[in-house]
Amino acid sequence: MTKYKIIYDQKSCIGAGECEALSKELWKMNTKGKAELKGAKLNETTGKYELEIDEAEAKKQNLVVGSCPVGCIKIEKTN
Ligand code: SF4
Repeated sequence: MTKYKIIYDQKSCIGAGECEALSKELWKMNTKGKAELKGAKLNETTGKYELEIDEAEAKKQNLVVGSCPVGCIKIEKTN
């Protein structure tokens, strides 16, 4: 089964909150006005957060990707 990865650049987040509005199960605004991607791990090399998801979740998260005004959320295939 195809696996996907959300790659989230928190440094570029402007706190618009679209991600949380569309997907409370994976996104939450923190007290610093940045979105947190629940369960994600920080990639020390890239400085971005990463979370593996399945195909069904990737379909849902495509909406989130499209709604982020600064484009700081990406989805990649991992195999
Ligand atoms: S939609 Fe983008 S800019 Fe807005 S809070 Fe989420 S990650 Fe940040």
